[in-house]
Amino acid sequence: MKKSYKIDVDCVNCARKMEDAANKTPGVKSAVVNFMALKMNVEFEDGADAKSVMADVLKACRRVESDCEIFGI
Ligand SMILES: [Zn+2]
Repeated sequence: MKKSYKIDVDCVNCARKMEDAANKTPGVKSAVVNFMALKMNVEFEDGADAKSVMADVLKACRRVESDCEIFGI
């Protein structure tokens, strides 16, 4: 399952940190952040619950960039 989320982040370096944090989160198969579009595309592991996985992704992202936001979780 793939989903696309609108994000808010201040710069390309923090966007990369968010991408790394998302990719390390259990349930995420792969995550790609597009800073220009302010989008995060997430492919989930089979059977993963997108809502709870994304709550963990946001927590992980906030640890590396406290100001970031992921919308529509
Ligand atoms: Zn930054």
